[in-house]
Amino acid sequence: MEKPRISPYIYFIIILVAALGYGFYLYQKQSDHVSELLELADVQERKIAQLEGIIETQANYSNSLATELSAEKNRNEEFAQQIGEIAGTVGTLEKLSQTDEELLQKYSKVYFLNEHYTPSHLSQLENEYLYDENQDQYIHSRVLPYLEDMILDAKDDDVTLYIRSAYRSFGTQSQLKSNYSVTYGSGANTFSADQGYSEHQLGTTVDFTTTGINGGLTGFQNTKAYEWLRNNAHKYGFVLSYPPNNDYYIFEPWHWRFVGVDLATHLHGGDIYFYDMEQREIDEYLVNIFD
Ligand SMILES: [Zn+2]
Repeated sequence: MEKPRISPYIYFIIILVAALGYGFYLYQKQSDHVSELLELADVQERKIAQLEGIIETQANYSNSLATELSAEKNRNEEFAQQIGEIAGTVGTLEKLSQTDEELLQKYSKVYFLNEHYTPSHLSQLENEYLYDENQDQYIHSRVLPYLEDMILDAKDDDVTLYIRSAYRSFGTQSQLKSNYSVTYGSGANTFSADQGYSEHQLGTTVDFTTTGINGGLTGFQNTKAYEWLRNNAHKYGFVLSYPPNNDYYIFEPWHWRFVGVDLATHLHGGDIYFYDMEQREIDEYLVNIFD
């Protein structure tokens, strides 16, 4: 009996099928894993996009904070500036309120200083500055340092400035005028100071004399002292109130009034005189008169 013969191909086919099956199984498993990984990557990608969105939002937020901060800073700076300006204005007003407005007033035949006016502070002048040491002289205390500087600097230039007369009270003035009236009769009105008198009553004005004219006033315009004053007095805040050929009063080369360095320099440079200016223009210099 012949054993049925199994073809060797059958074994081969069985093994092939088994191998294919296993291969397919492996492929399936691997493919599941790959799709899992892909899914995971997708999730990560979405997370990244989400984070990027958050970062952008934060960046925008911090940008807008920075903008707000800088706007707030500007507002603060503006405010500080306003406060500064207000403080400046208050300072100026305070300084003005403490500055005697009469000090830069123009006086005339119709407008003169009240007879009860006295300067806030007067200082006695050292004898060395006086022509006549027997007559005490006084000056506005805040004008004193300017006057002293001027006299000492003139001395350095070999120019002697003596004070003949400085502060005069209303009483002294009337007495002086009646003396002049006795001596010169009715001409005293043009000679003795209807207007210049107010300036002396302020305590800021000085009549000078010098060597060579016997302590007098006449001839002062021809002295070295007068020339020196014309060139230098403005540096110390003094001006000539009644220059030659002025429209207001007789020429008084000896009579110098303190108006502050700023105004005196302005007048010197512009070659104009105090009484030529408008009062409101002059008043702008009041706040800095003692600077
Ligand atoms: Zn005078």
